[in-house]
Amino acid sequence: KGDPRLEAISAAIRVVPNFPKKGIMFQDITTLLLDHKAFKHTIDIFVDRYKDMQISVVAGVEARGFMFGPSIALAIGAKFVPLRKPGKLPGKVISESYELEYGHDRLEMHVDAVQSRERVIIIDDLVATGGTLSAAISLMESEGAEVVECACVIGLPEVKGQHKLKGKPLYVLVEPS
Ligand code: AMP
Repeated sequence: KGDPRLEAISAAIRVVPNFPKKGIMFQDITTLLLDHKAFKHTIDIFVDRYKDMQISVVAGVEARGFMFGPSIALAIGAKFVPLRKPGKLPGKVISESYELEYGHDRLEMHVDAVQSRERVIIIDDLVATGGTLSAAISLMESEGAEVVECACVIGLPEVKGQHKLKGKPLYVLVEPS
């Protein structure tokens, strides 16, 4: 910490109270994407961290993991694998459900997208409970890939997430004040 780039990233994230429903403080990264400097800092920090870690796969969680993952993948010489909501991928998929506040959802991945033993980082915009990232980890592990770390731009401070991430490290850039 103490990196001025992190201040710029924090400042570029818009907080919208009561969206999409009452009581949620929505962390809006679309304003970060509008700020070229802050957006570039975000990608640069992840790239510096992962470029020498023999990562061959960057997996992004639909939809906001798609906004950061591909730039990181290109810069570190890795492929990009989309982890999608049910029914979107046309090929053979594996599927993993996870709990939401009410009910549950699923993430899917093409089975031929990763090979066993490949080293993966999983990226999303934000971690709250860690449920989404846990499902992503399970998808990768069921194909025999090795999840090196989960990376998010924002970590909510009330995260119990870390306990849910199957012992995998979590790297977050900023926490909302
Ligand atoms: P969780 O599975 O509980 O860790 O929730 C993380 C997922 O929900 C991510 O894909 C986020 O984009 C989204 N999410 C949860 N809480 C928020 C929030 N306060 N603001 C923006 N996105 C959120």
